Amino acid sequence: MNSTEQYLEAQAAASEQVDVPTMVNYIIQDSLHRGASDIHIEPWEDMVGVRVRVNGVLQWLVGIPSDHHPNICGRFKVMANLESHTTGLPQDGKAAPEEFGGVQLRVSIFPTVFGEKIVCRVFNPNSKVFDISKLGFDDATLERFKELAAKPTGLMLLTGPTGSGKTTAIYAAIGYLLEKHGNAVAISSVEDPVEQNLDWVNQSSLNPARGYTYPAALRSLMRQDPEIIMVGEIRDEETAEIAINAGMTGHLVISTLHANTTSGTFARLINMDIEPFLLASTIIGVLGVRLLRTNCMHCAGPYTPEPAPLEQLRQFEGDEYLQAMLDQQGFYRGAGCSACGDTGFSGRTSINELLVCTEPVREAVMQKRASREIQALAVQDGMRTLWDSGLQLVVDRKTTLEETLQKVAADQV
Ligand SMILES: [Zn+2]
Repeated sequence: MNSTEQYLEAQAAASEQVDVPTMVNYIIQDSLHRGASDIHIEPWEDMVGVRVRVNGVLQWLVGIPSDHHPNICGRFKVMANLESHTTGLPQDGKAAPEEFGGVQLRVSIFPTVFGEKIVCRVFNPNSKVFDISKLGFDDATLERFKELAAKPTGLMLLTGPTGSGKTTAIYAAIGYLLEKHGNAVAISSVEDPVEQNLDWVNQSSLNPARGYTYPAALRSLMRQDPEIIMVGEIRDEETAEIAINAGMTGHLVISTLHANTTSGTFARLINMDIEPFLLASTIIGVLGVRLLRTNCMHCAGPYTPEPAPLEQLRQFEGDEYLQAMLDQQGFYRGAGCSACGDTGFSGRTSINELLVCTEPVREAVMQKRASREIQALAVQDGMRTLWDSGLQLVVDRKTTLEETLQKVAADQV
């Protein structure tokens, strides 16, 4: 039983009224305890359901009697400095409850047919997610990444599908630059919206409704004398052009791009009508990231995967590799237990691949060669691929073969 349930039961047993601010604090405490990234508080027909997203999956937290719903909404509105008398309209705000040292909540209120639904995105600085050492680098790749980050100019891109940890990775990269340069460097960011406040970084949230878009923000920012610029996401031609221009004119620009493969980034930008020679001369590297669920340490044990994933592994790595893994009982997965909510997984870990724009890669980009060829050149130049990183987790018994295949193999060119 979690502390919200305990509190509700204790109040009921003592015939005492529920103090809503106290209950809300218990909800937040339980959510943090589970490592939640989001808290969903939903009015249903017969109760208020609270669910939390943990490792990317929604979990049930607690059900609360419906009569508390208006006061719960009111409490979150007060915490986030929203208009508490306004109901039935979307509202967004931020809260930093004092009781939870440094934890920030981005509170979003949305009217549904049963009343207002509240979703809180949780930022917990104590979980140290912005640590570059947690991005799943091996030593050699980390060194190459640091070399790129030390360059004074150019464009560094981070790619991955939705939910792959791009935002965490870009904050970690900025965190590394702050650690390296301290306050001796001017870092500015344009984000949609700012998700985590960083000391020494001039962060700016877009406001597209008022015309404050990525291109508008970046044009103004260029007159602010930044040395390092973080652009939340490149999603259109205009933003791409300005980011590349900034990278060519004495700035280090770091941004994210929605692409499935690191090598596919170039084709994606060429499709946005960016000249290949501009890409070749500006992009210094592309970091691809993914998040993989990790086996629960309490219930993980050896298993034999189904024939289909084994066949996929054989196609990638060959007969001998597969046989060796089977002989050594090398495959591990969680059977499911109370510690992992019967999922077999507990927590997630990052893996990555760093495509460094070496001379052969640059030439291939100029010649608009296929992504697959660019990928092969990068591997020749020492790139450890996402697949390699994911397979290493399988070998280390930290995740399942299926998880690696699902998150990585399908996207590999
Ligand atoms: Zn378990």
